[in-house]
Amino acid sequence: MLGLAINEPSRPGGPEGDRFFDGAQPQHDANQLGAAQPLPAANQAGLPRHLQKLIQAGLARRQQGYRGRFAPSPTGDLHRGNLRTALLSWLHARLQGGEWLLRLDDLDQPRNRPGAANRILADLRWLGLDWDGPPLLQSSRRGLYASVLSSLRRRGRLYPCACSRRLLADVSAPHGALAVYPGFCRQRALGWGPCQGRLPSWRLRLPEAPIRWAEDSPWPGWLEGATEVGDVVLRRADGLVAYHLATAVDELSLGITAVVRGDDLWASTGAQVALMAALGAGPPRYWHVPLWRDPQGQRLSKRAAAEGLAGLRQGGADGPAVIGLLAASLGLVPGGSRLSAQELCQQLQLSELLAAVHGRLTPIHQDPSAGEA
Ligand SMILES: [Zn+2]
Repeated sequence: MLGLAINEPSRPGGPEGDRFFDGAQPQHDANQLGAAQPLPAANQAGLPRHLQKLIQAGLARRQQGYRGRFAPSPTGDLHRGNLRTALLSWLHARLQGGEWLLRLDDLDQPRNRPGAANRILADLRWLGLDWDGPPLLQSSRRGLYASVLSSLRRRGRLYPCACSRRLLADVSAPHGALAVYPGFCRQRALGWGPCQGRLPSWRLRLPEAPIRWAEDSPWPGWLEGATEVGDVVLRRADGLVAYHLATAVDELSLGITAVVRGDDLWASTGAQVALMAALGAGPPRYWHVPLWRDPQGQRLSKRAAAEGLAGLRQGGADGPAVIGLLAASLGLVPGGSRLSAQELCQQLQLSELLAAVHGRLTPIHQDPSAGEA
């Protein structure tokens, strides 16, 4: 038993979740924050007052310094690729004197694996990647996400989509010309209720303009919305809140200033930045880092977990050996090094970290359907 607050709070958005979520503003009230960091009123016109306050508190928290996060899904154990991304995210935060939060993206509950959340926390702790505050469970924030969805819908930023999975698979198949959802339902006068016995999914209506963000990797952070991102689903037909919605809301309301994650999430960043703009706020800064790929250039799957931490431990490796292995894979230390995460942090400069990683970048790989870790 890890003694960590990873059980569902007694009520949705209950004390644990609220304490963590609103922890950015313990010594202020939201009115003071709103007065200190006024936003142009037009930005959030039409959002309910409680959402305006939440977003403003998050934006005000950003002004207080670096705040990063790592956000794995408890769908399995972290493999060495996930752990390396976690190490990079942690180093990026600690080298800048920042906070590092841990968030479990556990909304897709059928995909969650029993015990995976506890094992993720145990593995990070074993590696010495310490986080600030209690872990946040997205599953305890469903009320907030539903409230954001409703307000976006009321403001005309969403539309219902009745396209079947089969149709979408056909148009995005390798021989199909379309890499993103082409907006079939944008102009259809569909209702929000069941259509032929099936509820529609809810899609974000992307604006025409390019989507831009601040990026630490050498690639400029931008995507063409219509052709590279598309009108993403924010609420699935089965009612599940989509990853993009929960992630964008969390980055904003937690006051996240920096997101370090795998470069497979580049296209997701476009969707999430567009969504934050729809909520009247700018995005954090991003650093998309290369995934750990096998010698054939394929990303490691969760099935490769057997070769991950559990496998390394069974082979007799301890924490310093694993940190040495992860760091050596980026050329941060010589092969065979043994050192703690803390020692690695102490001997590194931020510029060295960025340069080492950028020396190993391959062109951005896009996978708009991917979640994090
Ligand atoms: Zn559709």
